[in-house]
Amino acid sequence: MLVVHTIRELRQALSSHRDIAFVPTMGNLHEGHLHLVEIAKTYATCVVVSIFVNPLQFGQNEDIERYPRTLERDLARLHEAGAEMVFAPTATEMYPKEQTMRVIPSDIAKQLCGAFRPTHFEGVATVVMKLFHIVFDGHSGVHTAVFGKKDFQQLFIIREMIEQFALNIQVVAGRIVREADGLAMSSRNAYLSPTQRQQAPQLQQSLAEIANAIRQGNREVEALEREAMHSLTRRGWEVDYISVRSSETLQPPAPNEQSLVVLGAARLGGTRLIDHVEL
Ligand code: AMP
Repeated sequence: MLVVHTIRELRQALSSHRDIAFVPTMGNLHEGHLHLVEIAKTYATCVVVSIFVNPLQFGQNEDIERYPRTLERDLARLHEAGAEMVFAPTATEMYPKEQTMRVIPSDIAKQLCGAFRPTHFEGVATVVMKLFHIVFDGHSGVHTAVFGKKDFQQLFIIREMIEQFALNIQVVAGRIVREADGLAMSSRNAYLSPTQRQQAPQLQQSLAEIANAIRQGNREVEALEREAMHSLTRRGWEVDYISVRSSETLQPPAPNEQSLVVLGAARLGGTRLIDHVEL
């Protein structure tokens, strides 16, 4: 496995490859990330994983400083998983000058997580566009990028970006990988105290309860959302949103819409967790 830190080295190393499958990450890798690497391996012999904690996608009061950085352990895990190349740039390598040119996502990026993290998806779209150029430009083969469904809204926005900019990249989505008790794996789970960790599956349980109620014919979506928010708040959560959406448009669903997703984001202590359940 080759580990490179500069764009120039990566481009050079990739020059002899045609088909590439790319997995962007912020590192501190867990089974969820490794699942994406497994998927990537089925699409191309050359699997490239990036590890970059992207400053553009963190708001001013967010956790970029304390975001866990575990490069050595990540590299060992990727080696074991069979990745071919790792691109781990510094912030100066990615942004030698202020990144004034940005990708502005559509209005969906102002809803759900975007309502609480106003510049987040612009930062994500911009770094992903830049990484796509760094990894894929100059290759005539099949370009595959693998993202987790864990970040459902992010996946939606990346797909829109690829479509609207006519990028020659196929996106493959990996299922959410969960802990045994249902908690979605996340680097941020490490911030939870033992008591909070025990409580953390409640978010997913609340979303699943809404999904079940809808499956059983309850279409009082707003009431279900409100009840779930109250119930979590009573148990000590600070809820950003619980929202039933169309899984195709991410907009509030039409009355008889069948493809639905129940999304939620909430904080335990200072730790913000997101999750969703698809119907
Ligand atoms: P991150 O390192 O958090 O930026 O995530 C990098 C990629 O891994 C994104 O495409 C995420 O959606 C995906 N990912 C993160 N957590 C999980 C999980 N528990 N299951 C599956 N994919 C995940």
